[in-house]
Amino acid sequence: MKKYCMPAILLAVFETIAVTLWLTKDNLFYLFNFSYIGISISLGMILYIRKYGHARRVVQLLVGLYMLIYLGLICNENMQIEGFWYYLFTGVFEAATIHYAVAKIFGPLLFGRGWCGYACWTAMVLDFLPYKTPSGPRKRIGWIRYVTFVCSLVFVAALFLMHVGNLERIMFWAFVVGNALYYAVGIVLAFLFKDNRAFCKYICPITVFLKPMSYFSVFRVRCDKGKCISCGKCKRVCPMDVDVTDNSRNRKNGTECILCMECVKNCPKNAL
Ligand code: SF4
Ligand code: SF4
Ligand code: SF4
Repeated sequence: MKKYCMPAILLAVFETIAVTLWLTKDNLFYLFNFSYIGISISLGMILYIRKYGHARRVVQLLVGLYMLIYLGLICNENMQIEGFWYYLFTGVFEAATIHYAVAKIFGPLLFGRGWCGYACWTAMVLDFLPYKTPSGPRKRIGWIRYVTFVCSLVFVAALFLMHVGNLERIMFWAFVVGNALYYAVGIVLAFLFKDNRAFCKYICPITVFLKPMSYFSVFRVRCDKGKCISCGKCKRVCPMDVDVTDNSRNRKNGTECILCMECVKNCPKNAL
């Protein structure tokens, strides 16, 4: 039973968040929302422990589709970065601001970029493309993420400064158009660079939050140097070019790890 400790701990963390928000915000939705996400992630971990090959994809679909279709399109909640700015400017701690606080700003201190590996609805689609591992070296265009980050902030700030009306409706359409753009750019880049995760590496504005916070992540893949035979397989299967054999926090592309566990599954010596 010891191996099921981790899914149990994660479920407990999500249930704590669910109950706390339900009681403090007096809104039953939060109990449902965070319980659903916690159960989905724990289920995925149990499937992984039981060696089901598509465990991560199951979680991606369960959480990603729920957030994209139910929260985004049916409930009209913009969970993209412009939704975060919108709620931040209105001074309301709900919807996208809570989502960002849990999944993308403070959560990564605990579970790194687990969001990127298991829940993001953009990567949920990109991971179906054929280039699971990058075939070439990294491009030096990671600066684009700062441009998209600033553009999203300027876009929402301009709406507020110009006192544009019907902001909720604009936010809904920004979510629809923004997602369509993300998918289009993500798919084109994946084929262009032969790398499913090219969008994540160079364009995604959310990594401006995710990368520095995940640097301090409690959960991270570590290498047992005593077992490692330096075969390099872990680096070859890593979709994010992480040098996982280096245990230091400054390891190459360390803040890119999405905890997909491909390296762990493929290590011939169980060194990870
Ligand atoms: S980097 Fe951005 S697009 Fe990629 S998985 Fe993370 S949040 Fe999603
Ligand atoms: S796959 Fe395992 S044994 Fe090979 S280099 Fe990586 S950690 Fe070491
Ligand atoms: S393969 Fe390993 S190092 Fe690379 S992203 Fe996945 S878990 Fe992280």
